[in-house]
Amino acid sequence: MRKLIKNGTVVTAADIYEADVLIEDGKIAAIGTDLKSEGVEVIDATGRYLFPGGIDPHTHLDMPFGGTVTRDDFETGTVAAAFGGTTTIIDFCLTNKGEPLGNAIQTWHEKSKDKAVIDYSFHLMIGEMNDDVLRELPQVIHEEGITSFKVFMAYKNVFQADDGTLYRTLLAAKELGALVMVHAENGDVIDYLTRQALKEGNTDPIYHALTRPPEIEGEATGRACQLTGLANSQLYVVHVSCADAVEKIAEARNKGLDVWGETCPQYLVLDRSYLERPNFEGAKYVWSPPLREKWHQDVLWNALKNGQLQTIGSDQCSFDFKEQKELGRGDFTKIPNGGPTIEDRMSILFSEGVKQGRITLNQFVDITSTRIAKLFGLFPQKGTIAVGTDADIVIFDANVERVISRETHHMAVDYNAFEGMKVIGEPVSVLCRGEFVVRNRQFVGKAGYGSYLKRKKYGEDMKHQQDSIPVQ
Ligand SMILES: [Zn+2]
Repeated sequence: MRKLIKNGTVVTAADIYEADVLIEDGKIAAIGTDLKSEGVEVIDATGRYLFPGGIDPHTHLDMPFGGTVTRDDFETGTVAAAFGGTTTIIDFCLTNKGEPLGNAIQTWHEKSKDKAVIDYSFHLMIGEMNDDVLRELPQVIHEEGITSFKVFMAYKNVFQADDGTLYRTLLAAKELGALVMVHAENGDVIDYLTRQALKEGNTDPIYHALTRPPEIEGEATGRACQLTGLANSQLYVVHVSCADAVEKIAEARNKGLDVWGETCPQYLVLDRSYLERPNFEGAKYVWSPPLREKWHQDVLWNALKNGQLQTIGSDQCSFDFKEQKELGRGDFTKIPNGGPTIEDRMSILFSEGVKQGRITLNQFVDITSTRIAKLFGLFPQKGTIAVGTDADIVIFDANVERVISRETHHMAVDYNAFEGMKVIGEPVSVLCRGEFVVRNRQFVGKAGYGSYLKRKKYGEDMKHQQDSIPVQ
């Protein structure tokens, strides 16, 4: 059935205006004032914002790590994402060295099939670049529509790739039309520092942060930027947490390099002192990179404001405090890294960003959706509200006040990292391809509704824009 969302305020990365939005066959069919409402289902959005559905470019659902598996899978994780205003996620498909990439992709299809309630896509991890991997990549791009590759510069002896692999991945991405993503921390130095800490009997969660200082992230970020310049390729730095990394990204961009940076809600509002919470509660706040001293938050906010960082991902990677985070009692290196963030990504950015005057409403949409769609080959199907695009729409109440809590969240995990935090604003209803997934704060979606998105090559939109400029 056709739907008409009436009297909302449409917000895109460029515009803010009041209009009615007509939805037909899952797409936006018309935008205008006083659109006819005969024979359509009318949804009143008076006093509410209409945002393009959020795109979360960084999730780990149903992911094995450190002998355990993330608590949220593609069902609970995407339900929580939808409650938070996200209608598309891009999850990281992990690969094993020496095994065909195709097997890993198949595993990820099996994890997500019949489970996701919103649309989804995959990035592909490259652990080792060799001729076999190179031979498989064109197929990954053309048949699977996976146009972003992730290289880990940390997690020695687990995920970490060497610099040769990073460089060869950058070269291949340039040639094939993909974006290289890096986890930028110096894994070799971390390995040494963590061994030293344990040898000295320093086993508490805070040592996770103390053995991964900001220089570790700044150095790796700078190295990845330099190699990107050498390869004349393109780079996206995930989960930027500190001033040291922001500086390296800004420096590269000032030189004209094609480098982009993402931060996460936890780095914007939580700080290193959380790792010192008593009774091992500090383990709840173990992320890599780690939470930083509080002053880094201002640097990150400023970087979002002035465009040195362009996106926000959740890095959703949830482990229960009981039995999972607790694996690291007596040895901080055994605490599973990551936290539950998929649900609150947009609310935190809206409340702390827009409501606090740090970013504009248009920037909010760009950072949570539009820019991500453009970088990852989903624009304009996703990432905006315009005629002909997918009807992924968030009906948002910008005034309601609430408190984030595990009592009310929809993730499967047994704690919330933002417990007790007051936020202003809430997604009231969320549509994915014209169907309600959340309606008036009730889940009305269906497992398996989400469809797998094949993405365009990196830069294809930009090429299209150039081609369409009329020649005088
Ligand atoms: Zn991650």
